[in-house]
Amino acid sequence: MKAAIIGAGIAGIASSIRLAVKGYEVDVYEANAYPGGKLSTFANTAADGGLYRFDAGPSLFTMPELVDDLFRIAGCNPADYFDYIRLDETCRYFWDDGTRLTAWADHTRFAREVETVLGEPGQHLLDQLADSALKYDVTEKLFLHRSLHKLGTWIGRDALRGYLNLPKLGVFSTMNAANERRFQHPKLVQLFNRYATYNGSDPYQTPATLNIIPHLEYNIGAFFPKKGMVSITDSLVQLAMDLGVRFHFNTRVDEIVTEGKQVIGVRIADLRLKSLPPSPPTPRLLPFDLVISNMDVVNAFRKLLPNANQPERILRQPKSSSGLIFYWGINREFAELDLHNIFFSNDYRAEFHHLFNQHKLYDDPTIYLNITSKHKPDDAPAGRENWFILLNAPNNTGQDWDGIIAEARQNVIRKLSHVLGVEVASLIETESVLDPRSIEARTSSSQGALYGNSSNNRFAAFLRHANFSHQFSNLYFVGGSVHPGGGIPLCLLSAKIATELIDAQV
Ligand code: FAD
Repeated sequence: MKAAIIGAGIAGIASSIRLAVKGYEVDVYEANAYPGGKLSTFANTAADGGLYRFDAGPSLFTMPELVDDLFRIAGCNPADYFDYIRLDETCRYFWDDGTRLTAWADHTRFAREVETVLGEPGQHLLDQLADSALKYDVTEKLFLHRSLHKLGTWIGRDALRGYLNLPKLGVFSTMNAANERRFQHPKLVQLFNRYATYNGSDPYQTPATLNIIPHLEYNIGAFFPKKGMVSITDSLVQLAMDLGVRFHFNTRVDEIVTEGKQVIGVRIADLRLKSLPPSPPTPRLLPFDLVISNMDVVNAFRKLLPNANQPERILRQPKSSSGLIFYWGINREFAELDLHNIFFSNDYRAEFHHLFNQHKLYDDPTIYLNITSKHKPDDAPAGRENWFILLNAPNNTGQDWDGIIAEARQNVIRKLSHVLGVEVASLIETESVLDPRSIEARTSSSQGALYGNSSNNRFAAFLRHANFSHQFSNLYFVGGSVHPGGGIPLCLLSAKIATELIDAQV
């Protein structure tokens, strides 16, 4: 059986491995010259030749067992391809008033820290993490490992457990309301509200069910791949190629070709044929027994399946937030910073109101600063650091991004200079920027959203597209825009669900 995969994002790569293990002949078509989509890398060179390497997108690695699984099902030892460490410190938090707090992986130490720094009873933290574990335990099998769009998911033991525990899932409360009930100190409420941003949502709207997210970071753990985040992509591509998967880069799929209720192949625009003098790309039809699309589902329907029924209700759901990223080569080291650092806004509610209701950036943004050279020193020249600065940004609705970027840059420099007590602007020796427009252009994400649809309403899980097509029996969907959602772990699970559905059908 021959399978085509559209896109070499993390879910497309994982799908290729799963199909190759089952004996499929697999071709992956990728529009870019490189694999990984959002999970890729690049480097900038300083005037003196010093090299800064950056992971372009994801910086937090959770649930590494989902990556390990792919090596294991292929009969390989994960450590032969890919290595990572568990972090002792999950994140350092900074506020403008001088408060600094470290979130330790060790729960007792973290509880002591919140008592010492904020005067919050440590037990409140432990209760929050236990609640997070319970929510995860009840929903994991039902919502993360199976298709929500198959009847079988809703009958049986896991479903019954879900129904019985519904009151504990926080479906009818917002994340912020639940966190305000749990914690006395507003800074701890803010810290736990932040987890809504892990799938691009608003803590003042999203249901408290999303309080399952801290479970991944604190109970299972936060990890760092020894060769950087991009080594997740690189090692899985290597495994896929070892299994015989063929990757075609610079090769964009322009159409999913259908006949009746079947997909019969894909049509590609061979961008490599772009030549001088310019000639139109030659469209080519390639026949396949099944197709998996790792392209954002909105653009897959609008661009590759324009004549199919468009599932408008799903495609028109509000999108998640996007990101504005500054990649700075910094000509100094900061001992007070670690791998993951957050500099919180003074008014979190106002920040999210700007992002989700006004589609603007707030002028006192929360700043996420990631420095991989803390763990991987060759990512920056000696004595310097590679700063990845991520601001939550609204998704792209045609804002004046050039103006927004210039203003945000000043706001970031002002805030970091204030908290760190150093004039940051003069330390920047290389710079690149990624914004919602370029995210969409490079990965085809609708409106540059980082995580597909937002999860700002309690039915969001049911309003993501299924991992299979309701119209074409041999068409499947994987990646951050479909079930179960965005972020590396869920993308990997989408590949597992889709390929299990293929198995069930064959
Ligand atoms: P994508 O990465 O979206 O890639 C899709 C691929 O398909 C692209 O390579 C694209 O070129 C290709 N493609 C699209 N259309 C076509 C076509 N017609 N023909 C051929 N190829 C096509 N997640 C985390 O877990 N932790 C984090 O810390 C984190 N931080 C993030 C920070 C940023 C700045 C960003 C952008 C994302 C972050 N995420 C994070 C989210 C995570 O990166 C994504 O959810 C995940 O990588 C999406 O993978 P995907 O499989 O959906 O494919």
